[in-house]
Amino acid sequence: MTERIGKELSRKILLNPGPATTSAAVKRAQLVEDICPREAEFGELIARVREKCTTVVHGHPGYETVLLGASGTGAVEACLTSCVNRERGAVLIIENGAYGERMKAICQSSGVPCESIAFDWEAPVDLKIIASHLAERSGRITALAFVHHETTVGILNPLDELTALGKQYGLEVIVDAMSSYAGIKIDLSATPVDYLISSSNKCIQGMAGLGIVVANREALERSRKYRSGNYYFNLYENYRSQKMERQFLFTPPVQVLYALEAALDEFFTETGEARFERYASLYRILLEGMTRLGFKTLVEPEHHAMLLTAFIEPDHPRYDFDAMHNFFFARGITIYPGKSPRHDTFRIANIGDLTADDMALFLRLMGEYLTSHGISPLYPQ
Ligand SMILES: *Cc1c(COP(=O)(O)O)cnc(C)c1O
Repeated sequence: MTERIGKELSRKILLNPGPATTSAAVKRAQLVEDICPREAEFGELIARVREKCTTVVHGHPGYETVLLGASGTGAVEACLTSCVNRERGAVLIIENGAYGERMKAICQSSGVPCESIAFDWEAPVDLKIIASHLAERSGRITALAFVHHETTVGILNPLDELTALGKQYGLEVIVDAMSSYAGIKIDLSATPVDYLISSSNKCIQGMAGLGIVVANREALERSRKYRSGNYYFNLYENYRSQKMERQFLFTPPVQVLYALEAALDEFFTETGEARFERYASLYRILLEGMTRLGFKTLVEPEHHAMLLTAFIEPDHPRYDFDAMHNFFFARGITIYPGKSPRHDTFRIANIGDLTADDMALFLRLMGEYLTSHGISPLYPQ
């Protein structure tokens, strides 16, 4: 018995910070025969995907990937609620954006003891302040958690330095690398993060629905004894089931897993180096073109992760974000509002299965939008 399923889809360009644009091959990979995820064949898929997720960040042999049927935030929640030795102390959260703030909210809502240091949302964190906080609170902090690429405004926090600082104090290091994993070089063989968190739908260019945790095996084993206060999101139990039984604890997003394997294969075919360079070159095209159109960035370019840029909204009576969004959406391009507390911004991401032509199209349409609406100058004195 066979059945024919398929239709033509028009290609959309997503410039929002995830889910990102996916290739036709990744979309097609979801079209599979129905399968019970407890079958051995699916178990092999789980094993392969876990292996490949670890390889993306050079995690062999010390790391294990744990997959979670959740959005990225679910994976952050799993790590914070499972992997902090709360009997012995608190997790220190470094906060310079909405996603650091979200880590704190997760701890507060689930009773994980936490402390936080908040920085300006428009600049990278200050290592000296963090170091002196750690020195002062030594012995009462057991873990350090921070965001690598703060997608709120597009800032890159110093992964190596922050991890080294955490390790200097013997802390478990938990990193939200949601929108940097597979978009910027991360090498766990050189940077000893304990829990590196991402999701299936950002720079890895898969479908939404899976959280990815690349975890240090020894840290995971230690966490088994920690009091967790969770059930579905117990990281060790999810790991044990995936490693020992080659099964998810509960029903996984079956088709999303097939798509993730296709996306991982595309990553290795493109190669990490070429992916990172493609993203960086899309960023340069974007920044150069937007600057030429008169836009200003919220953050100094030297601090840009080169994956997403927050632009200051034009200060002009005929400018309206929703109208601009709708103009682009009608032409197959999705843009995203900003999240800065001090300035009105909108955000353009350059992640996903995008080409230089896509960026050129976006810039040409932006020029047309500004001209046809008479939005000039963008920022009158
Ligand atoms: C996108 C993102 C998240 C949240 O991901 P969801 O999949 O929407 O839960 C968390 N942290 C960062 C840094 C992100 O960019």
